[in-house]
Amino acid sequence: MAHMGCLCGNRLSNSLCPNDVQIRTYRIEQWEEALAKNLDVYYIKDLDIWYCKKCDRFYYFQYEGRNHIRTITYKLLKVVYQDSRSCRCTPKLYREYMVYTDIELDSITNESSKVRDLPTPRLEVKQCKSCNRVTVKEENKYKIFKMERVSQIKEG
Ligand SMILES: [Zn+2]
Ligand SMILES: [Zn+2]
Repeated sequence: MAHMGCLCGNRLSNSLCPNDVQIRTYRIEQWEEALAKNLDVYYIKDLDIWYCKKCDRFYYFQYEGRNHIRTITYKLLKVVYQDSRSCRCTPKLYREYMVYTDIELDSITNESSKVRDLPTPRLEVKQCKSCNRVTVKEENKYKIFKMERVSQIKEG
């Protein structure tokens, strides 16, 4: 995917390198495996996630093999300060992710891009397994994104 229209009307594209649209997201399990093997970060398959800074919405494209099967969208629900409570679900079971923006990843990688040499991500991202809300911690601020149901995404 190279271009798409965001639901807010903004045009998103990943043709610039680096760009402020792609979010390099890795499942923590994949990351730990890569750490153990000390792989090059570009050998780890990241999730296909795009972000629209204009409306604070992100898109998660899911594939089966090489075929795009569905897109899940998340919209910013609220911003809280110094409060880690992202949802009221109990018990709290989270999926954790290692996340860099494309621009961040570009700035910390060069000839040596082994995962062990990379700094800890600035963004801390967790997803509740029960309500699917995504919490993004940036400094002392938590942004909470709620999954949205969208019937159709314009692509192309
Ligand atoms: Zn948008
Ligand atoms: Zn929850």
